[in-house]
Amino acid sequence: MNVGENCTRKYQTIMPSIEKNGEKMPDWLPVFNDEMADFWSGEMLWNTTLTSYTTFRVGGAAEALVFPRGVKELSQLIQGLRKINVPWHVIGRGSNIVVSDKGVKGVVIVFGHNFSSRQIVEESADLVQIKVEAGHSLSGLVNWSVEKGLSGLEFAVGIPGTIGGAIVMNAGAWGEEIRDVIVSVTMMDEKGNSITRKRDEIDFTYRSWGEADSMIAVEGVFELEKSDPARIKRRCQDFHESRKNMQPQNKPSGGSFFKNPPGGKSAGQLIDESGLKGLRAGGAEVSSVHANFIVNDGSATAADIIKLMHIIQQRVEEASGISLQPEVRFLGWE
Ligand SMILES: Cc1cc2nc3c(=O)[nH]c(=O)nc-3n(C[C@H](O)[C@H](O)[C@H](O)COP(=O)(O)OP(=O)(O)OC[C@H]3O[C@@H](n4cnc5c(N)ncnc54)[C@H](O)[C@@H]3O)c2cc1C
Repeated sequence: MNVGENCTRKYQTIMPSIEKNGEKMPDWLPVFNDEMADFWSGEMLWNTTLTSYTTFRVGGAAEALVFPRGVKELSQLIQGLRKINVPWHVIGRGSNIVVSDKGVKGVVIVFGHNFSSRQIVEESADLVQIKVEAGHSLSGLVNWSVEKGLSGLEFAVGIPGTIGGAIVMNAGAWGEEIRDVIVSVTMMDEKGNSITRKRDEIDFTYRSWGEADSMIAVEGVFELEKSDPARIKRRCQDFHESRKNMQPQNKPSGGSFFKNPPGGKSAGQLIDESGLKGLRAGGAEVSSVHANFIVNDGSATAADIIKLMHIIQQRVEEASGISLQPEVRFLGWE
């Protein structure tokens, strides 16, 4: 859960229940209105369901939802929320999160097209460096690099989400990951200050960038290699085909649910060998195509997904002695 370290303190209850135009509003609205005027003038959506902001398509409402338009606005927002002790959480495309049915307290900051510039910052005979903001879509960057004949991101074909999410999750496939192509990341701390770290200063590990939960990825610089466009296209097509054959299509999910345990068998193999393909909890189901995908049949709640997760963990541990750890992140589960 991405709650700034110093903003986890519960905000005071100002009023038991506040409504505006018939909508339930968070109890911190008055203090927000009073205090934030100096910090921030952007727009906020109140009491908004997050279902359509996640690929699992489950979850309750965020007390407030905001789409920052640039680093300055983001910094002002963070400083203001910190001052009034309202927690915040950051999401991109929501392709790796399970949002609680009870919703999310505080402000959910969504990185999207308002925060998605892309700019070539260096070019040599062989290499190109591109600076990309956190809200840029990963697939958009892959498509752009294919068009330009730049190699390095082919592995990411078919991985949904934003650049920010890909950096934070150190997204990867086919033995390659974001760490391999990143030069530096600019991040914002819980005080609203930006710092840039080079790749070697970031502790990337399997599906994590190793930074504190309160840190926000603001932009990344990627280094790609000039290469034969036909070859790049072919690699992308091959990866795309493999994905189509191996992963469930057209059913909401969060991608691979569990991390692969170190060495030995993959999470999918362990779940499959435990005989769990097709197992259900309410509307959540272990995909019959890829056992490490929990899919939503359209009627699942977040609680169904969590229930199924626990059953899988228990059954795999009984069968193999291995404790599976989720790769997906959880939002709103206090
Ligand atoms: C069908 C499908 C296939 C997938 N295949 C793969 C795959 O092959 N490989 C792979 O690695 N992943 C895969 N995923 C998982 C997911 O797409 C990646 O993890 C992706 O990088 C997440 O990006 P996002 O913008 O959706 O992040 P979100 O899901 O919105 O967020 C993920 C986490 O990152 C945090 N976060 C997001 N943006 C920021 C930011 N700017 N600053 C700080 N924290 C942030 C969130 O708080 C959350 O903890 C797949 C998912 C789906 C649905």
